[in-house]
Amino acid sequence: MRNTLLIGLFALVVSFTGTPYKKLALQPFDGFDKALLDTVSHTIKDVYGYQVVVLEEIDLPRESFVNIKFPRYRADSLIRFLRERDYGSMDYVMGLTPNELSHTKKDAEGHVKQPAMKYIDWGVHGLGYCPGPTSVASTAKIDSEDPREFINRLKKICIHEFGHNLGLPHCPTEKCVMQDSGEKMSTIDDAELRLCPSCKDKLKSYNLGH
Ligand SMILES: [Zn+2]
Ligand SMILES: [Zn+2]
Repeated sequence: MRNTLLIGLFALVVSFTGTPYKKLALQPFDGFDKALLDTVSHTIKDVYGYQVVVLEEIDLPRESFVNIKFPRYRADSLIRFLRERDYGSMDYVMGLTPNELSHTKKDAEGHVKQPAMKYIDWGVHGLGYCPGPTSVASTAKIDSEDPREFINRLKKICIHEFGHNLGLPHCPTEKCVMQDSGEKMSTIDDAELRLCPSCKDKLKSYNLGH
């Protein structure tokens, strides 16, 4: 009887506080600056309340490399690669790379955006399916000599892509980290390092199973 009551109370606490036991693994690829991992992991913990585990670096898969416009790695192929690896009890995995990423930009109907030559291998800072268990982010195009600015940009990219994995679409609220940057650094710089109230409400409703 006492145990049932305790389990009941526990379930109630968990349902009110969201999902405190969900786990995200940060998977650095070859050459990613290890000094950045700690601060990225703390930010994700702060914004989403997830446990974050930092893993050992692995090599980038050769099959994800393309040289269509520039030498870079296909973000969708890296996501597939990560999804096929065994991450045990992890709920989500985010790959982090110093190399450039690209993917094919499509319109709402799923057709390649026009002009196709421009969008077939479009450079991106990161990619995360909405929803999905895996995302990737890159430091290659962050382009800042100022270490504070550099890390803030990276944090926003990671928070944004993980938000997609958790089911958050692009948000029209100004300064929300889930705004569509269109790969413009100025939009990323204008965004705050947090979710707007409407995005927070959405996450809460997903967690409560509505
Ligand atoms: Zn996005
Ligand atoms: Zn928002």
